[in-house]
Amino acid sequence: MNPDLAQRSHLEPTPVEGCDGCARLAWKREEARADRDWGRVAALNQAMENHKAGPSHSKLSMGL
Ligand SMILES: [Zn+2]
Repeated sequence: MNPDLAQRSHLEPTPVEGCDGCARLAWKREEARADRDWGRVAALNQAMENHKAGPSHSKLSMGL
């Protein structure tokens, strides 16, 4: 089983289109994944969940 696919398939928050914060976190997550730094990937997933629950995200996504 490819660990990349295993990591991808579950529990990953998806970035919302048009949200800068999401895009930034998604980009960092891809970088961490390219380095196979799963601890960082997990941390960035957590950060994205926190971001998506927070005011800096909802302000932007409400406008869509
Ligand atoms: Zn966002």
